[in-house]
Amino acid sequence: ACRSVVDIFFFSTATKQTKPFAANPCFNLQGRGLFAKKAIRKGDTLFMERPLVSAQFLWNSLYNYKACEYCLCSLETAEENARRLSGNTCLSLPHPELCRVRRELHDSCPQCQVMYCSSDCRRAALEQYHQVLCLGQSREDPKHPLNKLEEAWRNMNYSPRTASIMLMAKRVATARDKVLWQNLFSQFCSRTANEEEEIAHKLLGEKFQGQLGVLRQLFTSVLYDEHLSRWFTPEGFRSLFALVGTNGQGIGTSSLSQWVHACDVLELQSQQREQLDSFIDQLYKDIEKETGDFLNCEGSGLFLLQSSCNHSCIPNAEASFPENNFLLHLTALSDIKQGEEICISYLDCCQRDRSRHSRHKILRENYLFVCSCPKCVSQADDADVTSEEDEEGDGDAETEGDDLEDEMTDV
Ligand SMILES: [Zn+2]
Ligand SMILES: [Zn+2]
Ligand SMILES: [Zn+2]
Repeated sequence: ACRSVVDIFFFSTATKQTKPFAANPCFNLQGRGLFAKKAIRKGDTLFMERPLVSAQFLWNSLYNYKACEYCLCSLETAEENARRLSGNTCLSLPHPELCRVRRELHDSCPQCQVMYCSSDCRRAALEQYHQVLCLGQSREDPKHPLNKLEEAWRNMNYSPRTASIMLMAKRVATARDKVLWQNLFSQFCSRTANEEEEIAHKLLGEKFQGQLGVLRQLFTSVLYDEHLSRWFTPEGFRSLFALVGTNGQGIGTSSLSQWVHACDVLELQSQQREQLDSFIDQLYKDIEKETGDFLNCEGSGLFLLQSSCNHSCIPNAEASFPENNFLLHLTALSDIKQGEEICISYLDCCQRDRSRHSRHKILRENYLFVCSCPKCVSQADDADVTSEEDEEGDGDAETEGDDLEDEMTDV
């Protein structure tokens, strides 16, 4: 289903916003762009892409979302997943044959027992980073430097939306004696030291500079390698932080939603179809009651092609993970003309409905640029006030809630 990437796109090296840095305090990081080489139809898959590196969020694994350590594939069967999320331990799913999770293929690291969905994933992880990051017998030992690093990360009150300390660790471990990887990573963004300092400063704020120092020390004690010494300097660590913080793409996987998609395309007689649909509706209602919005195994990854897509508040493409693993599908949300830029949204759908002022605030704080998409341009004359809905969320009381939410999503 996926056409050759080279065939459909061309990259632009021209910057969209060319205002000098001094004139634009929130400088533009959207240096590159992805443009359609030919017309693309709504619903088409533009490309599929594996991340260069990915990691599950720590909070997510702590809350018992079991995922393959390498590809983030959910390790629960759709039924186990549905039982846990709905709190109904006797639930049984119809059409169990549509669940694609294969228990018998699961594998684990013999040293630390971390789980993989297959021996292929175990081997790939071992080759790329796990040799360096395997905790062996120390998996539960709070004094192990890697555990201390995770602990320190969890205790940081603020971290960028899709950043993950394990993503940074894997990124460094991956780079060992692999020139190819180094080159790939260097393509993400080439920024000046000043820009990187600005990013780290904005993402972390003044009061977190000290915490960054603590993280760097722990990071160094786990991963130090003289060939990669530049990443362990204060400047290098900051640039790693900036890279992961501004380029990380959220990944969500679910064996249940994969099962639901398979149900959706089953050919059934109308009565059976109605029954199945209402069963699924009820299941999601039960899950909503028991678990709320946190349905997926969640993590983040660095994607080369996806990261070159700029943001728009009215995006024409969207990333999803329909295969219950880290394989990203980019799908057209509307017809796209030849020469048109492919844009995704860095905001979730609720954030996109907020006022221009609120959208800009989120983008500025998390991605450090000023949006000039058609929607923002058309709203440029709107008063600089937050929308009503935001007011509720922007008062003093809400700040705490926001922080809490950030902690849930970002650790
Ligand atoms: Zn896997
Ligand atoms: Zn291991
Ligand atoms: Zn916009």
